[in-house]
Amino acid sequence: MILPIIAYGDPILKKRGIEIDNSFDGLSTLIENMWQTMYKASGIGLAAPQINQSIRLFIVDTIQTEDEKKKKGFKGIKLVFINPEIIEETGEHWKFEEGCLSIPGVREDVERQSMVKIRFLDEGFNECEATFDGLNARVIQHEYDHIDGILFTDHLKPLKKKLIQKKLNNITIGKVDVDYKMKFPKK
Ligand code: ZN
Repeated sequence: MILPIIAYGDPILKKRGIEIDNSFDGLSTLIENMWQTMYKASGIGLAAPQINQSIRLFIVDTIQTEDEKKKKGFKGIKLVFINPEIIEETGEHWKFEEGCLSIPGVREDVERQSMVKIRFLDEGFNECEATFDGLNARVIQHEYDHIDGILFTDHLKPLKKKLIQKKLNNITIGKVDVDYKMKFPKK
């Protein structure tokens, strides 16, 4: 089932999600719905708060981008992250233009470190620990922020944020061109 994606301005996007355990009701359906919703919106990552669930869960599929990145020898991932915990971020700081399904039409450079070591549970609640770099790290860092109630726009310098404030306000009231289902806080 395709779920509406919660738009910028909704308080749930500013809330820290809570941890879940394997008695969480309807988890496999929720994850399946998240994949469907993400693909429908042509996304490569989606966090639970973006579909109105304030829990520590996100999904990532960067395998979709392998074709365009083939020349660089890029290897994508398709993973479910439950109760993740970033252990450390290392490597050089690099800028990358980020976007977000909750903030359509806005793309801005965000600086983050290039590598992330993370501990998490997969969809079968198996304990995993791995280190990711490049685009994989970037998407994980962006989605991890979501479950802490942080949006990529929170990383922008005040002047930059001011320049896009009008666009952000418009998203809040649903004044935005978007080809997937969204829920706007003030519409
Ligand atoms: Zn996002």
